Amino acid sequence: MKTLGHWIDGKPAEPASGTFGPVYNPAVGDQPTRVALASVEEVDAAVAAARAAYPSWSGTSLAARTAFLFRYRQLVDAHRDEIAGLISAEHGKVHSDALGEVARGMEILELACGIPEKLKGELSTQVSTRVDVSSIRQPVGVVAGITPFNFPAMVPMWMFPLAIACGNTFVLKPSEKDPSAGYRLAELAAEAGLPDGVLNVVNGDKTAVDRLLSHPDVAAVSFVGSTPIAKYIQSEAVAHGKRVQALGGAKNHMLVLPDADLDFAADNAVSAAYGSAGERCMAVSVVVAVGDIGDELVSRIADRARKLRIGPGDDPASEMGPLITREHRDKVASYVDGAREQGAEVVVDGTEFSLQDRPEYAGGFYLGVSLLDRVSPDMDAYRDEIFGPVLCVVRADTYDDAIALVNSSRWGNGTAVFTRDGGAARRFQLEVEAGMVGVNVPIPVPVGYHSFGGWKDSLFGDLHIYGNDGIAFYTRGKVITTRWPDPADSGGVNLGFPTSS
Ligand code: NAD
Repeated sequence: MKTLGHWIDGKPAEPASGTFGPVYNPAVGDQPTRVALASVEEVDAAVAAARAAYPSWSGTSLAARTAFLFRYRQLVDAHRDEIAGLISAEHGKVHSDALGEVARGMEILELACGIPEKLKGELSTQVSTRVDVSSIRQPVGVVAGITPFNFPAMVPMWMFPLAIACGNTFVLKPSEKDPSAGYRLAELAAEAGLPDGVLNVVNGDKTAVDRLLSHPDVAAVSFVGSTPIAKYIQSEAVAHGKRVQALGGAKNHMLVLPDADLDFAADNAVSAAYGSAGERCMAVSVVVAVGDIGDELVSRIADRARKLRIGPGDDPASEMGPLITREHRDKVASYVDGAREQGAEVVVDGTEFSLQDRPEYAGGFYLGVSLLDRVSPDMDAYRDEIFGPVLCVVRADTYDDAIALVNSSRWGNGTAVFTRDGGAARRFQLEVEAGMVGVNVPIPVPVGYHSFGGWKDSLFGDLHIYGNDGIAFYTRGKVITTRWPDPADSGGVNLGFPTSS
């Protein structure tokens, strides 16, 4: 069995805590790797390395930082297939989907390559006689990133390239369920010439996270994960005087208005609900069928869902892979049974799926896709984030009923409207309470140069992640007021409050 340790100060750090967590291959259900779970002392060593690297790295010229980022971008690009393989082997998602994850992560790396443009600052000359004012942004110090299992490469790349580009040093704590991709990204950064200590990876669980949250040398915390943990991260980080952005879970609604192209809507609902086995924070988990289209829409979604090919992530024929763990697979399945008991109509039942005809995969964490119709807001399948291949359909008589339903959700991550009516789409954009809105786009994950973030219980903190908000988060402002007296000025003491003249 392989053992994965930590990456501290530009090199591998042998695990010292003596505790390990299992890393499964969800496609077959075995455990090829164990991951070290860091002790407080090991976290302290990673933070110390980042702290020691900070003065030199924050003082490194933009030209040198950018040169590293371009080299790193080339290296990640050259290794995309390998990184996708690591993701697929530990997460289970199909290889093409893992490649897509790497590509979306690289968008932020590409944004980071343009950091000199973003850090130009502002200058006002002659705000008062012979007085100039400039606003600059400087790094915050050591940043910690704590990431979820569902995007083991992309979510770390939402964070550290931009943080480093801004002059910070970084400690990444990847998900202990699929830690290898994050670790590999750090190895590649060293290969691209990143100085030791600028990017560190400490593997671990709550012990490691709690130490990062209380460590006096950690200035800022970026977190992505489930809502209860995001809430906890925010309150702990704030209690310890850190800035924090903590992105949480979701329940994303896709409204289909009566005038929509139903084949187009059904294609998109299936892609967005079952891609990556529904383990995406931007997955569509609820379709709201408005008006009298419900029967027809459900039938078209069901036709497509039944044809999906489920299998191991490294089989090019697979469209959807297994779930992350056996426990998670069983929990997701229990929502289908629960919904039936609570009165939903199970149109497609994924709990009956098995790969028994391929015995080598019989132990994998597979689950078929499920489609639940006539779901009501009081059912558990609607109220909870299931995070699996289960799509709920809620029927609404009118647009007003539909928008009221979406806006009553505790979450507000992504949402979408499918319609041919520009006026209705515009109204939806303005009225819906969510951070990311798609118009005939089911998974509106913003490109790297716009920011990603939800509302309500999908985000704790003030700034979204990556894009301009990311740069604001990883820097702090400073305003400098300068006067160089003209030799002809007479000067003199003046105790009045300075005003411009
Ligand atoms: P999770 O909250 O269980 O874990 C996220 C991170 O927190 C991991 O690194 C984990 O080690 C750590 N952690 C877990 N329990 C902890 C505890 N008690 N104390 C301290 N740290 C703890 O999330 P997950 O299951 O890995 O990921 C899935 C969740 O992430 C879903 O809810 C999904 O919606 C959400 N997610 C959100 C976004 C977003 O952008 N809003 C993106 C991806 C995933």
